[in-house]
Amino acid sequence: MHSNCLLITPHKQKERKMVGQREAEQPIIPSVLLLPLPLQGPINCFLKLAHLLSLSSDHLNITFLNAEFVHQRLLDLPSRFPHVKFSQFSDGISGDEPRTPAKFPAMVGFLQAEISRRLPEFMESPAPATCLIADGVFTSVGERANELGIPVVYFSTLSPCCVWASCFLVPKLVDYGELPFKKGMDLDEPVSDIPGAADTSLRWCDLPGICRTYDMTDPYVQLVLKEFRELPNAQGHILNTFDDLEEPLLSELRLLCPNLYTIGPIHLHSRTRQQLESEQRITSNSLWQEDRSCIAWLDAQPSGSVIYVSFGSVVPLTMDQLTEFWYGLVNSGTRFLWVRRSGMVVEMEESEEISLQVPTEILEGTRDRGFIVKWAPQEEVLAHRAVGGFLTHSGWNSTLESIVEGVPMLCWPNGIDQLVISRFVGDVWKIGIDMKDICDRGVIEHMVIDLMKGRKDEFSRRANRLSKLAGEAVREGGSSWRALHRLIEDIKFMRLEVPKDKF
Ligand code: UDP
Repeated sequence: MHSNCLLITPHKQKERKMVGQREAEQPIIPSVLLLPLPLQGPINCFLKLAHLLSLSSDHLNITFLNAEFVHQRLLDLPSRFPHVKFSQFSDGISGDEPRTPAKFPAMVGFLQAEISRRLPEFMESPAPATCLIADGVFTSVGERANELGIPVVYFSTLSPCCVWASCFLVPKLVDYGELPFKKGMDLDEPVSDIPGAADTSLRWCDLPGICRTYDMTDPYVQLVLKEFRELPNAQGHILNTFDDLEEPLLSELRLLCPNLYTIGPIHLHSRTRQQLESEQRITSNSLWQEDRSCIAWLDAQPSGSVIYVSFGSVVPLTMDQLTEFWYGLVNSGTRFLWVRRSGMVVEMEESEEISLQVPTEILEGTRDRGFIVKWAPQEEVLAHRAVGGFLTHSGWNSTLESIVEGVPMLCWPNGIDQLVISRFVGDVWKIGIDMKDICDRGVIEHMVIDLMKGRKDEFSRRANRLSKLAGEAVREGGSSWRALHRLIEDIKFMRLEVPKDKF
């Protein structure tokens, strides 16, 4: 970021006077700004982080910068988080209009400008911001914060395996002229000739979503490339993972970003602390109404018999893909609980879904063995004894939620970090099957059977082991517990020196 900014760490803090803070001689109350990307996954992660930070025995001022449309959907936030101040801003998209992937670059651009403009508001006494924790996508806001003397910690809510691939492999691929991919190349081949790639089992098709572009000037591609170039310049990085899951990759990341806080799985961490503090369970952070009738349906199913199907909050499906999944699921003979959110199928009105041309036997199979909802209480569903597998788009939150519950996965990734995650699920952690780039009813049928019956025991054994390690990481003294403690201590003392002429 800015070479004239100097991070004052806890031990240095005792010796130095701050420069650039107008009221340096007054005691400084640690004041954290939290800036999530206003999408379901990141919002969920940042709210869990807000919860964990608000449990600190020393008082931290926490301000949550919340998009207006999120705030409108989660009106109970102020009562659920009494120690957090919520400050609202526009994301540049009107009202309830869907936040589709095509709108992301414009939305992020708008947010960067809007938050950067408003940052000075948060520098005012009596509690000027002393730390900004921002989604890793907000690098321009991070630069502006450093100019104002606010240290920045990025919370990258993407999977660390994708962060790692994006920091270490993607820049080299650009330098070696390997991006965009040559037309007609075999994406199933291992990535070769790139330093660092040989140690991985990644194929070309497993690389982060931006590698699939054929236009390197695309604004979204440029945004992502900038994000990963700038990431190492921050004063710290929070990752939603636990050390036992992703070493030795985390060791490599530490070479680039030495100050990593691996505090995940954050939803389990938050849940564990709630239990310890005998707090009431924090109610849902869902941006959509959860249909709890599926829990009653699950209660009536045999243990481990149901495959839960969800493609997260953003991934669109074509009508063909929906049909292939439907046939595959019904033909597998397996019980299934399927989330079909409104607007999930591109260019299809809700009313049309009802009149989809599917044969009677598929409708009957669905009535007999299936249950469809628009939005589910996913953490609870995955923890339900009836659920034995998860057909997922491999979003990072969904993946961690599945790992925590020891549920094996059938992965159908769509882009972004999902392409890397599904490879790790299938080939590194070996807790499921990567069905990447295939959407065929016959393949789906066979893979569902493989997941739920054929290879069930081997997947479950490994998934349960990871689940146990996740639990240990967030327990007192565990790696994630310690990382959170260090984060809170650092937040209390983090300061940047900036030249006086900046004020
Ligand atoms: N989710 C949910 N109910 C659903 C589907 C998804 O609560 O019916 C939650 C899920 O628990 C996860 C988030 O939505 O926390 C999705 O995040 P993820 O990173 O998996 O995917 P994204 O939506 O960002 O693609």
